[in-house]
Amino acid sequence: MSQRTRRPLQKKRRRRKSTPNPLSRMLGAGAIVALIVMLCVVAAGALPTLNPAETAGAHSAGAQPETTAEPTPSPVPTITPTPPLYAPFGAQFGHGGENLIPATPTPNLTPKPTPAPTAAPTAAPTPTAETQRTLKRGMSGKDVRKMQEALAGLGYLDDAADGVFGQNTGRAVTSFQAVNGLSADGIAGQKTLTLLYSGDALSADKAPPMDYLILVNRDKPLEKNYLPTDLVEIAKVIPSDVLKVKYKGMRANRTAAEALGRMLEDAIEDGVTNWQVSSSYRGYADQQALVDQSVASFREKNPSWSRDRCLSATYQTVAPAGTSEHMTGLAFDITVPGVSFSGTEQQKWLHEHCYEYGFIVRFTKEKESITGFLAESWHFRYVGTQAAAVMTYNNWCLEEYVDKMGL
Ligand SMILES: [Zn+2]
Repeated sequence: MSQRTRRPLQKKRRRRKSTPNPLSRMLGAGAIVALIVMLCVVAAGALPTLNPAETAGAHSAGAQPETTAEPTPSPVPTITPTPPLYAPFGAQFGHGGENLIPATPTPNLTPKPTPAPTAAPTAAPTPTAETQRTLKRGMSGKDVRKMQEALAGLGYLDDAADGVFGQNTGRAVTSFQAVNGLSADGIAGQKTLTLLYSGDALSADKAPPMDYLILVNRDKPLEKNYLPTDLVEIAKVIPSDVLKVKYKGMRANRTAAEALGRMLEDAIEDGVTNWQVSSSYRGYADQQALVDQSVASFREKNPSWSRDRCLSATYQTVAPAGTSEHMTGLAFDITVPGVSFSGTEQQKWLHEHCYEYGFIVRFTKEKESITGFLAESWHFRYVGTQAAAVMTYNNWCLEEYVDKMGL
């Protein structure tokens, strides 16, 4: 196998060109927040009733996180107009009810054998405001197609509008919601659809740029509704003969996944093969599921332990929901199938070269007290080549880098 020429570690200490200074970042964030608030006010004013699942703000702790599984239906998915008080009485006799307000309500409404209507029944009361069916995974129809066409027009959906609400449509809805400051639950309720068709919604290219230096740890958790931009399926970016994807449909940030592909291709060129990714993007709910699983497992093995004790044992190795950087789409657990990763030639190659491709070994033994996580030789985090080089050269973990660079 040929040896590639390896780039020497550059002793650059200047800041990344692409990193905006804190002031412009604040101004940018301020403008986005103001825009979101304006949109929410406009949307709220135009609607008589809102889907409760969507009324929470983008960063509300009560918002539904995106999950890869079937979204949980919101408790009150549709708008039900409050019927007039007299409607049951009028309907009972086949009338619209306008002139049938009883002087004294009759509690016993047992139907008479032949309540022949004296007039043709009028149509059931229809809401005055235009209501739209709440759309979610598994549904199909004209309204789904209309929504897909609007999502495609704004750049959220690549697939053709087929009228079937599948996984990709769900992801498109989630992205649309996240970019537009709605609760990103992947369920298109009244608020989502109204904004989508309003002509005022932000298109996909208005998504805030990914912050490759984002710091996530136990002290800096991500909000429940956080959604990284530009998630792609890893298998669509990296060929299967370069990387085995352990679970179907695993996703990651596009730039990070492309860098991972380049890195592993070069490793293979160096004769180091047999790569597997066993974890990549995980949403808030996915992380919470891992925590719950671990607690249940501790409970089973140690029936006398309290839940708190099981939880603290869990948190030794599993990050609490919101504190895992897998939620950014920038982290990968790289492994070798069927083998413990530490000490393998694959581990050694990656630890030596990953910075060249913009990755860092995020959790090392030496920095455990700063990162708050035990060492993980398999966990690689994309930060970009310049930052990775600076951190590697100075032996800084991400917390130290962010602190020393004043980010
Ligand atoms: Zn990991």
